[in-house]
Amino acid sequence: MFEKLTLNDPVFNVPGTHLNPPCKGGLGNSIDNEVRSIQAPSLTGRGKGEGPKGESPGRSVRLLIIHCSATLPGQRVSVQDIDRWHRQRGFDCIGYHFYITVDGTIWTGRPLSQIGAHCKGYNAHSIGICYEGGLDEEGRPCDTRTLLQKAALVAIINKLREIYPAADVVGHCDLDLSKACPCFSAVEEYSSEE
Ligand SMILES: [Zn+2]
Repeated sequence: MFEKLTLNDPVFNVPGTHLNPPCKGGLGNSIDNEVRSIQAPSLTGRGKGEGPKGESPGRSVRLLIIHCSATLPGQRVSVQDIDRWHRQRGFDCIGYHFYITVDGTIWTGRPLSQIGAHCKGYNAHSIGICYEGGLDEEGRPCDTRTLLQKAALVAIINKLREIYPAADVVGHCDLDLSKACPCFSAVEEYSSEE
């Protein structure tokens, strides 16, 4: 099953130690042998991400892209649900690399070394991070992040910045103007120039 991370999890002190094996190998098992490829990125991305051949160890990551699950406030959506939905859409597994539930738990999705399936045209060189929620009671786009989710987002972004110092943080909507996702300005909120 998927790995569950908390803000106190050692994964945040030791970059990359709780990463999942590639989709086909089964999700959620903690492995250590990906650390090297993540810490030594190189330009080996394939340039397309939504397909069965998305794996690219050591790819360069330029963007951390924030998403929402676009689900209703009362709707509990697990990382397994997202995984199932994405498989139904033809992906190998969950398209995001991290998923943050309303209780602030960070779940690992796709391994960092593997190209995600979350933002068309930008998957090859990005990491996808999704929070549970993003719609109000009427189904309209809304920043529904809980305080725990906000804290978790900051934690995972800071951790990823250690691994990928050159990466910018953006929202899905910054790259695809037709989207409201993630329903807040990630650029404003997570700008590294403060
Ligand atoms: Zn999105």
